[in-house]
Amino acid sequence: MGGLHYGHGELIKFAKGQKVSAPSTVLVSIFVNPLQFNPTEDFKNYPRNLEEDCKLAKASGADAIWAPSFNDVFNGGIDSHFQLLAPAQLSKELCGASRPGHFDGVVTVILRLIHLVKPNCLFLGEKDWQQYLIIRQLIKDLQLPVELIGVPTIRDKDGLAYSSRNQYLNSAEKKKALELPKILEKAAFATSLGQGFDTASMKSELRKKGLIVEYLEVVDPFLLKPSRKKEKFTLLAAAILCGETRLIDHRFLMNRKPIVAIDGPAGSGKSTVTKKFAEKLGLLYLDTGAMYRAVTWLIQKNRIDIKDREALIKMLESIDLKLQQTPKGEQKVLINNEDVTSSIRSPKVTQQVSEVAALSDIRNTLTAQQRLIGKDGGIVAEGRDIGSSVFPNAELKVFLTASINERANRRAIDLKRQGFKVPDLSSLKRQIKERDDLDASREISPLVQAKDAEILMTDGMCIEEVVESISRMFRLKVPEELWPTP
Ligand code: C5P
Repeated sequence: MGGLHYGHGELIKFAKGQKVSAPSTVLVSIFVNPLQFNPTEDFKNYPRNLEEDCKLAKASGADAIWAPSFNDVFNGGIDSHFQLLAPAQLSKELCGASRPGHFDGVVTVILRLIHLVKPNCLFLGEKDWQQYLIIRQLIKDLQLPVELIGVPTIRDKDGLAYSSRNQYLNSAEKKKALELPKILEKAAFATSLGQGFDTASMKSELRKKGLIVEYLEVVDPFLLKPSRKKEKFTLLAAAILCGETRLIDHRFLMNRKPIVAIDGPAGSGKSTVTKKFAEKLGLLYLDTGAMYRAVTWLIQKNRIDIKDREALIKMLESIDLKLQQTPKGEQKVLINNEDVTSSIRSPKVTQQVSEVAALSDIRNTLTAQQRLIGKDGGIVAEGRDIGSSVFPNAELKVFLTASINERANRRAIDLKRQGFKVPDLSSLKRQIKERDDLDASREISPLVQAKDAEILMTDGMCIEEVVESISRMFRLKVPEELWPTP
């Protein structure tokens, strides 16, 4: 929309720094869109300074500016073009309540811009989160061939979110406007400590400071409907009038870091991609299968009969199972101080592990330990029941799978690499199928695709492609402001 400021500059730099296409060319579009202003709003006075905008865009690394006239975008006038209606569900909430037609104007123009420019990627600030969500749905619904990438809100040193409208504020108003980010930050901090806050008193505090509150609400970050779910992250969004100037701001509220659950049948490549994905995003990696394998190894070592419940319980009472992350991002498995990282991959352990994993005492013990490891979040856990049982509130759940042929081939490569004897392909397929059947048919926490899990069929995909797909899914579930995706 023009009126470029430091925040836009950072957005341009961010876009320029991405290796999304080669060569990476960044086009900055500047178009004050009349369709998104309603008659009472400030279209005429909206800041326009193309010369300054060009300077800032160039200094930030933009390769070109595209500042079309209305006629360039809507040749022959608006009446000779299609106009879109934004989905009512998203567009009537928050800003939409006081700005009828605003988001219809936004999507109508964005669709035109995308058609005219045909970008590979579209970079949008998360500052206008509602707009970002609506454009994301536009791209999804119309299957536009463009990847949307959100960029975190940029704030000045006092915490005020950069906005073209900030230039309307005089110094007294600027001081008053700071009360909004301050109060939002306070609520975000309280939430991170597991404490509550009260929106009614926040509103009255803002009013006392001389601000008019249009809305200040805690909503579901994707549906934008009121939500107070403690176990999920939420969006605290606000719009105020400071003097004549309307400002919006928000904070995502969370009392732990994000959790990613990756489940799937045997040999679907979970460990390899989960490890790489965790490394890429700086999340802790938890291979829960290794825990079941370690217990199976101990049972075999101590020659415990798994039907002997008393012996099993005794073993579990004194068990010391540790997963350690090596500096290389590998996971070391120690049971009762013995390093079993490679021995738990033996065919002997593999053959019995599903039978062991079906036992309730073992599942209860290991599930409790897994939840403890993940209690602060910041973790990606892989297994069979992570999304359905261990972390049902995970932000992202992926069900990773592949055809039985592909999985048997991958298993053969793995076994060979680890120095084990490789059975022929048909016996491998049979063994994998037997393990899947056992895992899927057990009574407690069977292998299932959680209702809200995304399925990812990985036949013919290389590891990097799978990691990239999961990163894209993550981006759709967790705003960059909460956990930036590299
Ligand atoms: O993933 P991996 O093949 O190492 O898992 C070994 C076995 O551990 C699985 O076949 C399954 O029986 C069990 N398991 C489980 N629940 C998990 C992870 C693994 O039952 N969350």
